[in-house]
Amino acid sequence: MGRAALAEEMAAFGAEPFRARQLWHWIYHRGVTDFAGMTTLAKNFRARLAARYELRRPEVTRAQESVDGTRKWLLRFPDGQEVETVHIPESDRGTLCVSSQVGCTLNCSFCHTGTQRLVRNLTAAEIVGQIMVARDALGEWPSPQEDRQLTNVVLMGMGEPLYNFDNVAAALKIVMDPEGLAISRRKITLSTAGVVPLIQRCGAEIGVNLAVSLHAVTDELRDRLVPLNKKYPIRELLDACRTYPGSSNARRITFEYVMLKGVNDSPAEARELVRLLKGIPAKVNLIPFNPWPGTAYECSDWDQIEKFSEVVFDAGYASPVRTPRGRDILAACGQLKSATEKLSARERLALRAMAMTD
Ligand code: SAH
Repeated sequence: MGRAALAEEMAAFGAEPFRARQLWHWIYHRGVTDFAGMTTLAKNFRARLAARYELRRPEVTRAQESVDGTRKWLLRFPDGQEVETVHIPESDRGTLCVSSQVGCTLNCSFCHTGTQRLVRNLTAAEIVGQIMVARDALGEWPSPQEDRQLTNVVLMGMGEPLYNFDNVAAALKIVMDPEGLAISRRKITLSTAGVVPLIQRCGAEIGVNLAVSLHAVTDELRDRLVPLNKKYPIRELLDACRTYPGSSNARRITFEYVMLKGVNDSPAEARELVRLLKGIPAKVNLIPFNPWPGTAYECSDWDQIEKFSEVVFDAGYASPVRTPRGRDILAACGQLKSATEKLSARERLALRAMAMTD
């Protein structure tokens, strides 16, 4: 619940207005999961709350940790649907990659999540819940002032956040509240495949950093990689970026570009990329393709990525290459979820075989 909803709920429950603030503090600043632990509340009030409400986290059904420290959780919601959340520690920060939908409708041809059939929007609670689970696992309650392991949030997990705009906006409002989880909007990045009509609203109403999954410099190729391009082609997408509220040289838009061998990785395409980005406060994130079983794509060779990066860098753009992380765990977005589904299908078969021999 957001602040307003919590205040309304408490008013209807017959509690004084300051109770809502106290609850907010216990839930989002202290991370308490049990009303009994809310020691500033009268005992009988705690009992009344516990009788009427629940403080629940998404259930962790699998947890993986890479030798490089990357942690991936598979989380299950009450309806049985599952999503992935990933924590990526680096020397100067720790980023949590959060999902916005179960599955995805976009079917980008190189993305594993696009192969999953079931799709639904996550609720605001399910989005915030991912961050709270990570805070639990990292032992970061109450919300630390400094030396956090979870400093940044990126909406780069499963799903298209702008196709779940209202819930994502409500969730991020809770996440940004300085008296709660307190993650500043400057540390939050929303990644979109390019839902052009909502980009402006994202800047004006949520105010977080924007990342755009570009991945190609011609409509012909982008139509194949990111089919949403047929609806919102490159030129319209870049026009929306040009007027993104709050972007400046100090706050650049990130353009994500997945490096696919022989598909989009030539120096000529790097030069065209630079030309397209002219006039936009931009940085370019080159992402080595993360292969998954059954994909026809391969990751570009390292020297090809370097050549590409050099062209972008020489044109004055920061162009860091994302170091592949968590290669020893199921790294591609959606892979852990699929692997688990396969496992349970196999388990189901085994069970059926057992039932038949019985
Ligand atoms: N729907 C949003 C956010 C989710 S994906 C979007 O498209 O931006 C986050 C990023 O990971 C996107 O840039 C996406 O294109 C990229 N991505 C997806 N699958 C990948 C893979 N197998 N290897 C590398 N990057 C991938």
